[in-house]
Amino acid sequence: MSVTDELIQANESYASSFSKGDLSAPPAKKTIVLTCMDARLIPSRFLGLEEGDAHVIRNAGGRAQDALRSIVVSQRLLGTDELLVIHHTECGMLSFKNEDLHAKIKEDLDADASDIDFLPFSDLEQSVRDDVEFLKDSPLVPDDVSVRGFVYDVKSGKVTEVK
Ligand SMILES: [Zn+2]
Repeated sequence: MSVTDELIQANESYASSFSKGDLSAPPAKKTIVLTCMDARLIPSRFLGLEEGDAHVIRNAGGRAQDALRSIVVSQRLLGTDELLVIHHTECGMLSFKNEDLHAKIKEDLDADASDIDFLPFSDLEQSVRDDVEFLKDSPLVPDDVSVRGFVYDVKSGKVTEVK
């Protein structure tokens, strides 16, 4: 059985006791959580979120530039007005540079990705500050939206604010 089949089987048991079919699409807590796709992070668990509470936007690193499209849709069309940027310790984005990945793509796929910025970073806390600043400076994010940055520790499960 493939992993895909396993997951779909797991969904059968989830759906068999599902009771939240009446939720509305705008998030009840009017909040966006932007974080990394790292498999060790399950934002709904470490932030106590339930179905319908928040938009969770994930990508490699939890980078804001990459998430802007979704953030604008969330804020303009679905009424969110708070935003948490959460990067994490031991993030894979700390482990390579653009040139490394460009070279690997060339070698593995014989494709040219040299015009793509994969948004890796070398300083974890600074990457959080950069993304908070990027969003606060963006003309697409209103000034009255709360944007705060945090680091999630994969060893302790704890989230700490970056000032
Ligand atoms: Zn990560």
